[in-house]
Amino acid sequence: MLLPILLAALLLLSGRTLCRPPEEVRLEGASMGTSWSVVLRAPDLRRARIREARQAVRKALDDVDHAMSTWDPDSEISRLNAHRSDRPFPLSAPTLRVLSVAQQVAARSGGAFDVTVRPLVALWGFGAGARVPGDAPSEAELVAARAVVGYAKLKLDLDAGVARKRVFGLEVDLSALAKGYGVDRAAEALWALGFRNFLVEVGGELVARGERSGGGPWRVAVERPESEGRAIHGVVGLQNQAMATSGDYRSFYEAGGERRTHIIDPRTAAPIRHGLASVSVVHREAVWADAWATALSVLGPEEGPGVARREGLGAYFISRGPDGRYRTVATSGFPRILRVTRAEGDDPPPDE
Ligand code: AMP
Ligand code: MG
Repeated sequence: MLLPILLAALLLLSGRTLCRPPEEVRLEGASMGTSWSVVLRAPDLRRARIREARQAVRKALDDVDHAMSTWDPDSEISRLNAHRSDRPFPLSAPTLRVLSVAQQVAARSGGAFDVTVRPLVALWGFGAGARVPGDAPSEAELVAARAVVGYAKLKLDLDAGVARKRVFGLEVDLSALAKGYGVDRAAEALWALGFRNFLVEVGGELVARGERSGGGPWRVAVERPESEGRAIHGVVGLQNQAMATSGDYRSFYEAGGERRTHIIDPRTAAPIRHGLASVSVVHREAVWADAWATALSVLGPEEGPGVARREGLGAYFISRGPDGRYRTVATSGFPRILRVTRAEGDDPPPDE
């Protein structure tokens, strides 16, 4: 008599655990020319709830892409680029917000960050409308491009909701901060659905909300800045923070005996040449982290840390020394590196 009751109880219990919805799921997809992923933690992750989350993230990212992609000829930014006039051009609130962050970082970085750099990016063989990489651009091409590059040549009127060009040929490229903005929007969308614990990432830029499974900050890797394979340099804990990384190690080619990366120093009109391999920045919002990571990449290992400290930014710089070893510099706002898988020859991080 006892055995059947025990068996029935066991079956019921195992059935319950089998049917109980998971407490953590990982979602993945593609948008904004890259991949995205979300780790979602909640007690009630039923199928409909997961579907809701996936759709919200997808819509948030696709909306940003549709407004800001330079690959899409119908995007708002492509239409702004094609608008060869000094008449005011009306823009949506999200695009104005991203441009406003861009202009603030441009001014505070002394023009190292500059979203009007697009013609130079294309001349050096990167982005939409790029020419085939090979010979360096001629002096005449660089002079012509420089005439339409410069963040002060783009005026925003946030109250009127318009942008105005001071030179007709001016073109904008938001690649340096649009992904960060997309992550912020995706995080907002998940929050609006009632999720409180998640990690959302688009092409390496991320936002962490709440806590990881088991409690405590989400653990996020800082990559080793190497073009081949993926290896972890260190791990940081993030809680209600965003982190973005910029570097020369993923998008570059070699020509004329040098490494040409997609990050252009508007002050020299050429790809950055210093030994900085990557910069990671933490911030309250990913759009600021993303813009500053690119700005500090341009500023490099000498100027960058000073500017990061002046701006109160948590930043982590990894550079290649002349001996091929990595050198790291962390400013005080950057989370402690929790664990470092160190290869022989590396310098230990400063906080170890
Ligand atoms: P990220 O990967 O966020 O550092 O962004 C790099 C992208 O931003 C490049 O592929 C270019 O499209 C664009 N870019 C390059 N140089 C600059 C710069 N100095 N300021 C702003 N955007 C830039
Ligand atoms: Mg960036």
